[in-house]
Amino acid sequence: SAALVWFRRDLRFDDHAALHHALRNHSRVFCAFVFDRAILDPLPRVDRRVEFILRALGELDGALREHGGALIVRHGFAEDEIPRLAAELGVTALYANRDYEPAAIARDAAVRRRTATADFLDFKDQVVFERDEVLTQGGTPFSVFTPYKNAWLRKLEAAHLASWPVEPLAARFTVPPCECRLPTLAELGFETTDLATLPLPVGMRGAQQLFRDFVERIDDYADRRDFPALKGPSYLSAHLRFGTISVRQLAGYAHAQGGRGAETWLSELIWREFYQMILWHRPQVVDHAFKPEYDVIGWDDAPALFDAWCEGRTGYPLVDAAMRQLNRTGYMHNRLRMVAASFLTKDLGIDWRHGERYFAEKLLDFDLAANNGGWQWAASTGCDAQPYFRIFNPVTQSEKFDPAGKFIRRYVPELEQVPDRFIHAPWRMTAAQQQECGALIGRDYPAPIVDHAAARTRTLERYGRLSQAS
Ligand code: FAD
Repeated sequence: SAALVWFRRDLRFDDHAALHHALRNHSRVFCAFVFDRAILDPLPRVDRRVEFILRALGELDGALREHGGALIVRHGFAEDEIPRLAAELGVTALYANRDYEPAAIARDAAVRRRTATADFLDFKDQVVFERDEVLTQGGTPFSVFTPYKNAWLRKLEAAHLASWPVEPLAARFTVPPCECRLPTLAELGFETTDLATLPLPVGMRGAQQLFRDFVERIDDYADRRDFPALKGPSYLSAHLRFGTISVRQLAGYAHAQGGRGAETWLSELIWREFYQMILWHRPQVVDHAFKPEYDVIGWDDAPALFDAWCEGRTGYPLVDAAMRQLNRTGYMHNRLRMVAASFLTKDLGIDWRHGERYFAEKLLDFDLAANNGGWQWAASTGCDAQPYFRIFNPVTQSEKFDPAGKFIRRYVPELEQVPDRFIHAPWRMTAAQQQECGALIGRDYPAPIVDHAAARTRTLERYGRLSQAS
């Protein structure tokens, strides 16, 4: 019998649960990807993610062709395209890996309803533990990370990290009876981006290259991960997002390796699963605070301040460097995501949902669960979030995590000549000092758009009112 494997956020040829099971159970296997108009139509016409996916599909198609198959690529609404394709190909089963986002769950339910002639089988693939596999002893979902992580680690057995091999079963790939040609970006309605100029290798090979490079540094991860000027983290987030690398490979390596660096990194992979678990259990977090009492915070309506934040002209150098890194590269270092998000919500008093949306548009690694979780953590509205009275000071954060201003100077060239002792708060220079280093505040670089101490007081009042009310 024949089966169709529908690729979504799992764009790789090996260690792939749905592909493995389809190949094992069927004599003929077809593979397809849909550029889903439900996702693509609202995007700006220049979007690195579409190009990232297209490049990954090129490599995937190449691997399938080497093994006697080919990738069918459609551009339309997945809810229409997949049932139609299943009927055209006459398959008896449709295979896919599970996606835990509410819109994806609704889409899959629609596809299941509309695929009359084939069974829809779905598999766990993008996480080691999903949905309700890791629960408290009382059988409820965790809402605090550390006990979740401990339970996750206790539950872990070798089988959870074992690969789902594809290669040994590859003789069952079948050339589809329809035209198989990858569309161009232009045919999809998108323009070429600067993806090729970024230091981010793409596709499965790119992911493996990044991982090999990271393995050399993994022992230093715990010590270097918080300093944006250093090459500390793995830079694998976009690959994890689109599944060009298997989480089992990564978690398996870190777990076997052990040591402080690898253990800290494994914790980050577990944060990823924690937020995916939260999103699955509590899909309402998409638009609402995890803690319902925080849903009524009276945020400020401050479009000019929001624009300054988006464009990296707040007058706080580390925040501006962070936002410019995001705008220029589609990536932002984790420490800076926390600093930038805290600044928007607690210094500017702007609703976290505005920031979340901006990140969602710009991040190449945008992932609904992690982004929502990160924003709600910073805004103190989330599960296991930063307590509201702990407010990052953007100057202290800068002094601590970019002590010599190396990262700042990389993204805020106007401050290149500012002496180290002023780089974190250049407005503290006298007019003569500003003149001397060619950075006149208010002309070459903005004055701070808010006073941190005053903003801090306002934020404590804003949140304090809620805790009094509850
Ligand atoms: P590494 O440090 O090498 O970590 C390895 C992997 O672990 C990451 O690739 C990622 O998959 C996962 N991970 C690490 N930290 C977290 C975390 N705190 N939460 C969930 N997963 C994590 N991550 C995204 O993948 N997509 C997002 O849209 C996203 N938005 C964020 C928004 C905010 C406000 C904050 C504070 C964090 C956000 N993160 C997001 C988490 C984190 O910042 C990124 O995963 C990380 O910076 C990616 O870089 P890396 O791959 O080099 O990370």
